[in-house]
Amino acid sequence: MAKQPMLKFVKIERDMPEKRDAIVRNKDFREIYAEFADAKATEQSSRCSQCGVPYCQSHCPLHNNIPDWLRLTATGRLQEAYEVSQATNTFPEICGRICPQDRLCEGNCVIEQSGHGTVTIGSVEKYITDTAWENGWVKPAAPAVERKESVGIIGAGPGGLAAADMLRRAGVQVTVYDRYDRSGGLLTYGIPGFKLEKEIVMRRNKQLEDGGVTFVMNCTVGEDMSFEDIRDRHDAVIIATGVYKSRDLKGPGSGARGIVKAIDYLTASNRVANFGDTVEEFTSGELNAEGKNVVVIGGGDTAMDCVRTAIRQGATSVKCLYRRDRANMPGSQREVQNAEEEGVRFEWLTAPKGFKGDPAVSAVIVEKMRLGLPDASGRQSPEVIEGSDYEEPADLVIKALGFSPEELPTLWGCPELEVTRWGTIKAEFTSGRTVLPDVYAVGDIVRGASLVVWAIRDGRDCAEHVLKDFDKMAAIAAE
Ligand code: FAD
Ligand code: SF4
Ligand code: SF4
Repeated sequence: MAKQPMLKFVKIERDMPEKRDAIVRNKDFREIYAEFADAKATEQSSRCSQCGVPYCQSHCPLHNNIPDWLRLTATGRLQEAYEVSQATNTFPEICGRICPQDRLCEGNCVIEQSGHGTVTIGSVEKYITDTAWENGWVKPAAPAVERKESVGIIGAGPGGLAAADMLRRAGVQVTVYDRYDRSGGLLTYGIPGFKLEKEIVMRRNKQLEDGGVTFVMNCTVGEDMSFEDIRDRHDAVIIATGVYKSRDLKGPGSGARGIVKAIDYLTASNRVANFGDTVEEFTSGELNAEGKNVVVIGGGDTAMDCVRTAIRQGATSVKCLYRRDRANMPGSQREVQNAEEEGVRFEWLTAPKGFKGDPAVSAVIVEKMRLGLPDASGRQSPEVIEGSDYEEPADLVIKALGFSPEELPTLWGCPELEVTRWGTIKAEFTSGRTVLPDVYAVGDIVRGASLVVWAIRDGRDCAEHVLKDFDKMAAIAAE
């Protein structure tokens, strides 16, 4: 009888790929986890109990067929594992690296619930696709037939690129417009290299180009080209512009020099550290933490990326102020642990009241908080502890308080493009159709600041509906 290759979770313990030592990794921008060795990936995949109702899969936004690709990996059938994995995910190696697995697939793995430690789904997913790249199994689109319809996609982030990939594979003529010089959106300029090395993103960009997707870079829609112009050029348009308006801080002194936005800080760092670009504000020291006391304000993933970047730039000290406690922060616990290991100090239950220093900031006036009664969302509201103020020395303050959408209908001179009261584009669930004919929207510009995996899901779903709508139009025209 054949040996049972799976259900090894009782005998084999959960094991993650090796993490580089904090005092080594906090000096460079390379990823912190090593690759699984082949034997380790096989062994870890074999821990899966092949659930009849796999909660991992239902909690993955892409509904990845996780049990199947784990079984194929455990039995050494890696090329088939890759085929299954890429059937539902456009960028599996990216999700494997940066999905908050503890809140999605792994957080819902049944063997985690039974106390054995989750199957390391993300690391296996990354391993499968990295192996596929090494072996030349990842191929650019090669549509069997070329279609005459053309789609313009505004925004080269994961949402736009996932849609571009699906449409191009179906033979559609696809042009992606982006205001940056490199595509990838936040994968390229937001997320730091220590979470996602840029070669991983650039090889995907090249794959799309090789498959026939046209990129028009350094093109800000609404400035270099009008939205109307893009609509005129294409049979359908997908808006995938993400959310970039930084939430701001008020309070005395908040306009001082040295108080900067997280997105500006991270973009400059990504350009300099990962691409070797020259960025004036980095060279001048404005967006460089080297030799500075740095205070980052916020408790989400962007704040975690800022504190860990500041450490790598050689800051004298790095502190993170967050108004709730550790258990109630929005950022991933795994990232907090990584940051602490690398030398970041967290000041829980604190908020900025104002800033000292003129013209340049010299300190943050901090007030202490406690958690009060739950608000409408059910989360406990932070309350100020009167008379608890103290000063935190700072010569660089980074605001990482979240993002909201830019006012696209105004910027694009298109008041008919309907938005919600939060400024996100009103779009039909799943299809992404907006109120404008042949205009669709996906990703953060619809959901508000969200996750890469959700942007991919939206892009894929939308592409499917664009194709259906094209087919419907063709059928009507043929009648
Ligand atoms: P984006 O990735 O924002 O791409 C939008 C693109 O549109 C950009 O390239 C932009 O230049 C372009 N654009 C905008 N306006 C115009 C215009 N007018 N004309 C032309 N082009 C335009 N998610 C995770 O899952 N895991 C993480 O670890 C993670 N870390 C993050 C860290 C940071 C610092 C930030 C800010 C976000 C992080 N996220 C993370 C969230 C994730 O990056 C986003 O949810 C995701 O990138 C959204 O994809 P998108 O395609 O909708 O938009
Ligand atoms: Fe888990 Fe993300 Fe991969 Fe889905 S895409 S299986 S949530 S790592
Ligand atoms: Fe395997 Fe866990 Fe998914 Fe069950 S929930 S199929 S054990 S990965």
